Amino acid sequence: MSDYTINTKCVQGGYTPGNGEPRQIPIVQSTTFKYDTSSDMGKLFDLEASGYFYTRLQNPTNDYVAAKIAELEGGTAAMLTSSGQAANFFAMFNLCEAGDHIVSSASIYGGTFNLLAVTMSKMGIETTFISPDCTEEELNAAFKENTKLVFGETIANPALTVLDIEKFAKAAHAHNVPLIVDNTFPTPVNCRPIEWGADIVTHSTTKYMDGHGVAVGGAIIDSGKFDWMANAEKFPGLTTPDDSYHGIVYAEKFGKEGAFITKCTSQLMRDLGSIQSPQNAFYLNLGLESLHVRMPRHVENGLAVAQFLEKHPKVVKVNYPGLESDPYYEVAKKYMPNGGCGVVSFELEGGRKAAEDFMGKLKLAAIETHVADARTCCLNPATSTHRQMSDEQLEAAGIPAGLIRISCGLEDKKDLIADLEQALA
Ligand SMILES: *Cc1c(COP(=O)(O)O)cnc(C)c1O
Repeated sequence: MSDYTINTKCVQGGYTPGNGEPRQIPIVQSTTFKYDTSSDMGKLFDLEASGYFYTRLQNPTNDYVAAKIAELEGGTAAMLTSSGQAANFFAMFNLCEAGDHIVSSASIYGGTFNLLAVTMSKMGIETTFISPDCTEEELNAAFKENTKLVFGETIANPALTVLDIEKFAKAAHAHNVPLIVDNTFPTPVNCRPIEWGADIVTHSTTKYMDGHGVAVGGAIIDSGKFDWMANAEKFPGLTTPDDSYHGIVYAEKFGKEGAFITKCTSQLMRDLGSIQSPQNAFYLNLGLESLHVRMPRHVENGLAVAQFLEKHPKVVKVNYPGLESDPYYEVAKKYMPNGGCGVVSFELEGGRKAAEDFMGKLKLAAIETHVADARTCCLNPATSTHRQMSDEQLEAAGIPAGLIRISCGLEDKKDLIADLEQALA
């Protein structure tokens, strides 16, 4: 598929049926797989042969869809997880352990902030959060001896800041660690972080990739570019023998292209078990088949709504990287020349109270803890997804208490604007 454009890869990537085989990817609804001899199966357990034995580790349906996503992002290997949370946790935990350190953009999804600041911190992994707008000096100063990775979101949910991927990749590589980018909002249709230096890409496939609000899921994609062996002392999990697989050294046996995903599957998925169900992988693939058609419409609606809100007298501020007035306009244009996504955030005069009143009056846009599906929805992060954060933390993450996030769906923009207009009146 590598010669085709991303549009064609969305439709036909990952799976090519043979003669007389199903045109659509089969849902392999089976927990287990049959072998003729114990030694056949034993080779799989030793990672000496590739194949399926138990769906917690691998399933053909998931593999077709992961292969498509790897093609879309321009990576060498990928895996699906049960959620975006699992994807980010697995991607990071595949590289660090108690006593290690992470540098992360402060402007990230609330769930990922909790994962780093609360749960991984309890596991002995510390994170330094840094503004995505930091200078190169500030960014370099955040690194420590034990830093194992850098993390950021292409377009942050819900702050809508845009990551300068090249700046973060440069700093990560200067310190011999990889950059992990959560590319959920733009999707590979609008941005491919690997082309700008990211080493690992993650997704909450729950959002635009699924696109219809039907299945929670995640994905991890490896660029295959990071040289683990050249930084062997930093990444012993990849570069020293794994006793649970008869002393395999992942980076030697599977090379730069395969080591990361193989270790993540055969250790973390084996032990922590957060696989995506094959049925959900099937739904995800249906979403992917139209991703390249849907994203431009989300962008068109997002821009129209942002432009309408910007002119409205009751609106104090609009965040949308596609607006010329937005501080991220230039950086967004560089990384996402065709636009980013359909999510817009804004503040009304009157803060939290005005936000709640306004949202209660909307007819088309539903109040939901969701973004990025076909139906327009909205949310006040301070009273929902981010309610665990203090006002100070909210400010630092660029999320004032009165902020409303609206995720523009695939409806007609005229109807969306009319809905906003009546609610504002
Ligand atoms: C939603 C989201 C997540 C978490 O994904 P789930 O599928 O809800 O677990 C992670 N990162 C970003 C940017 C998100 O929008």
